[in-house]
Amino acid sequence: MFDVLIVGAGMVGASLACALGDKACSANRSLKVGIIEGNGNFLRGEFTADGRASAIAYGSTQIWQNIGVWGGMQRRGVTPMHMIQVSEGDLPYQVQLRREDMGQEALGYIVENAVTLASLWEFARECSNIELICPAKILDIEHVSDRDVMRVKISSEIGEQYLETKLLVGADGGRSQVRQMAKIEISERLYEQTCIVTTVKSENSHQNFAYERFQSSGPFAILPLGSDRSCIVWTATKEETPILLALDEATFLQELAKRFGVTLMEKLGNITVISSDRSNYSPRWMHSQTYIQPRLALIGDAAHTTHPIAGQGMNLGIRDVNALAKVLKAAHQNHEDLGAIAVLKRYESKRKWDNLGVIWLTDISNRLFSNHNWFFKVLRRFGLLLLQISPLKRILMYFMMGLHQV
Ligand SMILES: Cc1cc2nc3c(=O)[nH]c(=O)nc-3n(C[C@H](O)[C@H](O)[C@H](O)COP(=O)(O)OP(=O)(O)OC[C@H]3O[C@@H](n4cnc5c(N)ncnc54)[C@H](O)[C@@H]3O)c2cc1C
Repeated sequence: MFDVLIVGAGMVGASLACALGDKACSANRSLKVGIIEGNGNFLRGEFTADGRASAIAYGSTQIWQNIGVWGGMQRRGVTPMHMIQVSEGDLPYQVQLRREDMGQEALGYIVENAVTLASLWEFARECSNIELICPAKILDIEHVSDRDVMRVKISSEIGEQYLETKLLVGADGGRSQVRQMAKIEISERLYEQTCIVTTVKSENSHQNFAYERFQSSGPFAILPLGSDRSCIVWTATKEETPILLALDEATFLQELAKRFGVTLMEKLGNITVISSDRSNYSPRWMHSQTYIQPRLALIGDAAHTTHPIAGQGMNLGIRDVNALAKVLKAAHQNHEDLGAIAVLKRYESKRKWDNLGVIWLTDISNRLFSNHNWFFKVLRRFGLLLLQISPLKRILMYFMMGLHQV
């Protein structure tokens, strides 16, 4: 019987396993943790499939540092962000968020998802109290209330079997099966946009600067990576998307250069596309009506998703991990039932408003900047200029850096 069984060993589920992991082999005191992952490539150490990178807030790196996994990511390579420029296209209406404003070594880091996953899996494998069940999929869940357990039917290479756990955690992404099996309702909104992701290399140094450019089709982000590479997350309208995806490389580069703007192109020099393909994602916001049920909790994208515009989805997931791990460890020490609703409520109440706040703010920003009405144009340009000089900028940075929930 597991104390905690996690479905999904992506970046959020694997972070939770590591947070509950015990490398010191104090087996009698540690929790028995299982983690079920459907993607068999992970077991073979293959994490590079989509070539994506994520902006990780400074606060999230502190959470990973406390868990003990940040060192593994630094060893593999992370890129500090020294400045983030938020602007309307390449117009001069902009806010510059600099590390000096907050007195930190970086505002956050850009970490390739493959680096994050490899480091988390390496750590999890070294913990004696974690059992990795991969490749495997869940088929059914049943709360057996008279025995205070959650029964989970899974299918793996050895066939179908039943596992029992005090607490089942759904960390199985935005289309979570755990959430669907538990019949938890969601609110959601699909954006009429597509995020196209590609990686480029520039002739000159990017100086560890990131750019978030709002354009009429949606936000356009340039995230600095090692060796003067940059990950581009380009939000396009549904109509533009098939055209952009079908462009030959030279024409695609010309379109990219237009979004970079003359000033930035002069700074970066020649750019070349180095990713083999252009991956694309349909953004949406989604929020589960509850994150908990008796013997069940949802974390990360299984509980909520947001538009990638602000680079906050995974950061929210890491903060979920921090909150849930702290609640579970404290409950374990106090000999409380980990799956009891009273225990799980402590997790939900810590996380709901932070998640909802970011989802709403992100949605409002996306609508405001995609609006062609002259009133909104004046409002956002004035807003950006005002933000640059007002004390509100530091408050915004404090939250963006995730310093409120470390
Ligand atoms: C284009 C793009 C750019 C982004 N950029 C950023 C950024 O810069 N910063 C940021 O913070 N966030 C960013 N995000 C959001 C971030 O990627 C997600 O929030 C994050 O990946 C969520 O992690 P997760 O582990 O909850 O879910 P997932 O990454 O979806 O992982 C779920 C895991 O569960 C497994 N699984 C699913 N179903 C089952 C099942 N039935 N049985 C077993 N296993 C299962 C999957 O194989 C997978 O490994 C971005 C998203 C997109 C689309």
